[in-house]
Amino acid sequence: MSINWSILYRGTLSGCNYSCDYCPFAKKKDSRKVLEKDAQELNRFVNWVETRKKERIGILFTPWGEALIRRHYQEAMIRLSQMPHVCKVSIQTNLSCSLNWLENCCKEKVALWATYHPTQTTMHQFLKKCQQLDAFQVKYSVGVVGFKEALREIEEMRQKLPENTYIWINALKKDAHYYTPEDIYRMTAIDPHVSYNLINHISKGFPCRAGHTTFSVNGSGDITRCHFIKVAIGNIYDANFEQNLYPRLCTNDTCGCHIGYVHLEKLQLEKVFGDRLLERIALINF
Ligand code: SF4
Ligand code: SF4
Repeated sequence: MSINWSILYRGTLSGCNYSCDYCPFAKKKDSRKVLEKDAQELNRFVNWVETRKKERIGILFTPWGEALIRRHYQEAMIRLSQMPHVCKVSIQTNLSCSLNWLENCCKEKVALWATYHPTQTTMHQFLKKCQQLDAFQVKYSVGVVGFKEALREIEEMRQKLPENTYIWINALKKDAHYYTPEDIYRMTAIDPHVSYNLINHISKGFPCRAGHTTFSVNGSGDITRCHFIKVAIGNIYDANFEQNLYPRLCTNDTCGCHIGYVHLEKLQLEKVFGDRLLERIALINF
């Protein structure tokens, strides 16, 4: 079933149980009030998806913090996966939560974008979670932030994960000389598609599906084309909001995040990721 709307949802939640030193959300705890608001907004979103039976919908949750430790996200994933017109429900997660809730999902529609944070958990713990996902037959990608000092550990992870589990690396791009040619060689051996992530793609004036067949939604239902162009183009709870979805050109100079540039038509990344663009699982892992 091909997807005609890929929706990126980012709600109010922003707390996380981890404390990565490069992250503004580290160990921030959401108040009970914030979590209640987030749960209500999420429930409204899921109810809305339920009504859109004529669409084929794929959803990627891209929370600022860690959402899967919250029951309301687990329940949302379960409900969404069981809707016949939802073909995919995915979420970015640090994989620290219990995974038993997956039992109640339509597992073939769930896919996890799992990030390994070497300073916050052990490889052993993370791999145990991956084994659980394998046992559940739930698809997932494994990713890491490409700090040079983490490369050795990522190589070890590559050795220990099943060969067909795709590992992606989020390259650091601020300093053009951060990586040596040898670093890039090693990174490519881990993630054969890392070259797409090593640069900020020139995007201004180029067709992008963001704002047409893919769009971002916040807890209030406000829509933006993507997470990187903050201009609101409507609200999913308004009648006929679809009128604001049409083919567009990118207005930003560059696009450097997977969740954005995968929709940049000139890159044709559907050839690399097929129908697994949202959860970042490459079709060909070599
Ligand atoms: S796990 Fe993710 S959200 Fe949490 S502190 Fe680390 S980078 Fe931030
Ligand atoms: S190329 Fe990136 S920044 Fe531009 S519209 Fe697409 S997703 Fe947004």
